[in-house]
Amino acid sequence: MSVAPRVTPQQAWESFIAGNDRFVRGASSHPNQDVERRSELVNTQTPDIALFGCSDSRLAAEIIFDCGLGDLFIARNMGHVVAESITASMEYAVTALGSALIVVLAHDSCGAVAAAIDQSSRHPGEVTAAVRNTLAPIRPSVQQLWHRSQRNSPYVEPAQLDANAVGRAHLAATVNELIRNSAAISEAVDSGALGIVGCQYRLTEGRAVPYIAVGRLNIELTELS
Ligand SMILES: [Zn+2]
Repeated sequence: MSVAPRVTPQQAWESFIAGNDRFVRGASSHPNQDVERRSELVNTQTPDIALFGCSDSRLAAEIIFDCGLGDLFIARNMGHVVAESITASMEYAVTALGSALIVVLAHDSCGAVAAAIDQSSRHPGEVTAAVRNTLAPIRPSVQQLWHRSQRNSPYVEPAQLDANAVGRAHLAATVNELIRNSAAISEAVDSGALGIVGCQYRLTEGRAVPYIAVGRLNIELTELS
């Protein structure tokens, strides 16, 4: 039995992006961070938004989206790579907590994307097995962009690739993967209860720019490449 969402995907998005806009302008209001809010949430949580993003320390979600306790249900890992624990976390937010929006958050200058590019080069640097395996799902996006311009060698020349464009290709792949891996998520999107937005965060500006939207959402998107 699923918990019904309290807001539409569009309403969730508008409140989410308004928080980012306050942060960008240096006008954060730091809502829902006081003792009252803490007490209010002791026995319940009703986050309208679930966020799956890169672990990067500069992507501190409650800060960059100017929200507080109980507002975001978050799962993060290096390079936002879909794994069963991620799918489960997003499914839980949607079905048990009534979240109406999943935001997938990539960012520019991503170390995980840079490492995945390096791993696709002729002489990759040494990384642990766990890191190599975690980065593996980013590599098809690396190859995709590499072969768009270069067909002579299967080995990527990192200097000749736009890492942020690779990051956006991987962002799109991540959104697709979430939907493909989860009947619960795709059914919620299909019913109109859930929207998914893929954003790339610009570190310099502090702005989350939407590139992909799935579901009943009316959002002005920036083109992927
Ligand atoms: Zn990153």
